[in-house]
Amino acid sequence: MSECLFCRIVAGEIPADIVHSDDRFIAFRDIDPQAPVHVLVIPRDHIATASELAELDPDLAGQLLATATRLAGEFGVADAGYRLVINTGDQGGQTVHHVHVHLLGGRPMSWPPG
Ligand code: 5GP
Ligand code: ZN
Repeated sequence: MSECLFCRIVAGEIPADIVHSDDRFIAFRDIDPQAPVHVLVIPRDHIATASELAELDPDLAGQLLATATRLAGEFGVADAGYRLVINTGDQGGQTVHHVHVHLLGGRPMSWPPG
């Protein structure tokens, strides 16, 4: 059994509110939502960080971005605007070491983040 939380969600070992699934990615609602729409988009394969993803498989990185933007449309936040975030490493605030895009929308967001 994998020790990676998100690999376990991919494997169906831990329940999640899955909103998208295809042969490469799944997306599910964040357990602690920071906005009315807060979805995590992840590759099915375990890749730890954005840097590794970009280095190992730039095509997959592009498809991940495309999947997240498509979901923004499906969740109805594309016109109003939304935020995509990939926290990377400790100072980047990454707590789950399986690369994921946060799709946040449905409220105004300030900049810079804290
Ligand atoms: P990070 O801090 O690594 O960028 O983001 C990890 C995200 O995963 C956090 O927003 C956190 O709320 C979310 N998360 C942690 N554990 C679970 C879980 O078991 N289920 C779901 N759906 N989200 C989780
Ligand atoms: Zn994993």
